[in-house]
Amino acid sequence: MPRDPASDLAGKSVLVTGGAGFIGSHLAAAMTDHCDVTVLDDLSTGEAANVPEDAEFVEGDVRDSVDVEAAMDGADVVFHQAALADVRTSVRSPVEAHRRTASGTVKVLDAARREDARVVTASSAAIYGQPDTLPIHESDRKTPTSPYGIDKLAADQHTRAYADLYDLPTVALRYFNVYGPGRTDGGYSGVVSAFLDRARSDAVLTVHGDGTQTRDFVHVEDVVQANLLAATTSDTGQAYNVGTGTGVTVQEVAERVTRILDSDSSIAYGDPREGDIKHSRAAIGRARSQLGYEPSYSFGDGLETLVERASVTN
Ligand code: NAD
Repeated sequence: MPRDPASDLAGKSVLVTGGAGFIGSHLAAAMTDHCDVTVLDDLSTGEAANVPEDAEFVEGDVRDSVDVEAAMDGADVVFHQAALADVRTSVRSPVEAHRRTASGTVKVLDAARREDARVVTASSAAIYGQPDTLPIHESDRKTPTSPYGIDKLAADQHTRAYADLYDLPTVALRYFNVYGPGRTDGGYSGVVSAFLDRARSDAVLTVHGDGTQTRDFVHVEDVVQANLLAATTSDTGQAYNVGTGTGVTVQEVAERVTRILDSDSSIAYGDPREGDIKHSRAAIGRARSQLGYEPSYSFGDGLETLVERASVTN
């Protein structure tokens, strides 16, 4: 049987902010057999039902230092997932997005400094903006195009600065487009679940633009794996891309989804989304060599697993 990377955290107290959300709930569930897991979430987009039974749930806000310090009491490792994780909402409400994503991260890092807890933060491919070349390396130019991407870049840099200035062991993980069970809407990983939902009822799948735009779709279990590795690495003070290293077109997503479900859905083409980047693909050599990260799902395998699981639970 393969070794469970969460076993390296055996006996630790861990805090997952945003643990009632999509990624945070998978991460929390992966650790409850080995660790004391606390989830801090304000349920702004997450749901209490997503929090694993064996985790302690604290309803609170990462913008509030009192909530953060109380939830972090005794924590050895903090996985900071809480954010306003939607690009379009950040464009509509940049002040709110800034408070949740950028200020929230500084509050979490600062409480961790007092607690001397390691911090792994959820950064994003959105910090790179339009790439000059592919694949995207961690050191490439960063020109984010949305308030979300700008706030994530600030959070990512604060994470590094806390390691440089205060010797706090921190890691920023730059997720590409995460998909998997429990993901419901929004952005370019939401496109997988949105297409699956529509294809199940033979509804039209609408592609924004001509469908040739590519994204690096990474399965949530691989994102969990990267977090667990980041929680024990000695290579802290660094940022790591978390993707698969492969680009998939949105057209291919639509075609694979209809094929796999044997759906009669047709594909329609709408206006491109304003500010959308054309291509995105992660260079994952740094995560491979320094964290020992190895994605276990190709997009095709990940999609099949997602469909199989949904048919078991429905
Ligand atoms: P999500 O919306 O499902 O989860 C975010 C969680 O944070 C929610 O449960 C929400 O209620 C909580 N939250 C928001 N503001 C909060 C606050 N002020 N205090 C406490 N809790 C708060 O989103 P997700 O897809 O699970 O994203 C998790 C993290 O990963 C986010 O930081 C996001 O920016 C990052 N990320 C996600 C993707 C992706 O494709 N899903 C890609 C790159 C980065």
